[in-house]
Amino acid sequence: MKHIVIIGAGECGARAAFALRERGFGGEVTLIGAEPHLPYERPPLSKDGLAEASLPKFIADAARYEEARITVLTGATAENIDRVRKAVTLSDGRSLSYDRLLLATGARPRAFPGVPENAGRIRMLRTHSDALAIRGALTPGGGL
Ligand SMILES: Cc1cc2nc3c(=O)[nH]c(=O)nc-3n(C[C@H](O)[C@H](O)[C@H](O)COP(=O)(O)OP(=O)(O)OC[C@H]3O[C@@H](n4cnc5c(N)ncnc54)[C@H](O)[C@@H]3O)c2cc1C
Repeated sequence: MKHIVIIGAGECGARAAFALRERGFGGEVTLIGAEPHLPYERPPLSKDGLAEASLPKFIADAARYEEARITVLTGATAENIDRVRKAVTLSDGRSLSYDRLLLATGARPRAFPGVPENAGRIRMLRTHSDALAIRGALTPGGGL
């Protein structure tokens, strides 16, 4: 059975996984995500998500991935791609072989040169965890 591995469980990776099923791919689909959560939308992080205590706006719940036979590995970073063996090594030492590989690793904030990240009053906002940290710091005495 063919195996498509997607590195990056952001919006692109998750929607690509569902699109494979919608277009009739019947093999294995594995989504690898470094973050501890199921894939979620980032735009709310800088809007309501910053003001209200909320869960991330998930693209789908666990049941939908199961129904679509999409394996989601959260908290797993792809550390090496061996293109000859067609295998991805994860941060926990596991190795996954693939027939096709999709890189959906997205983007990272670019720090200003010479300005430390997340120090003092400077914060980076990219993930749900970042939003939670900023929300906490915005409370009286929280440091921002
Ligand atoms: C705060 C904020 C607000 C935004 N607001 C808007 C908006 O209002 N309108 C709009 O159009 N766009 C907005 N955007 C942009 C939009 O969210 C991005 O375009 C979108 O997130 C891109 O999705 P992506 O899946 O390509 O990448 P990403 O969202 O960056 O997801 C990539 C994922 O891959 C994971 N990853 C990376 N490397 C590895 C690896 N080696 N192994 C495993 N996992 C890995 C990352 O941890 C991440 O979870 C906003 C973005 C942010 C951060």
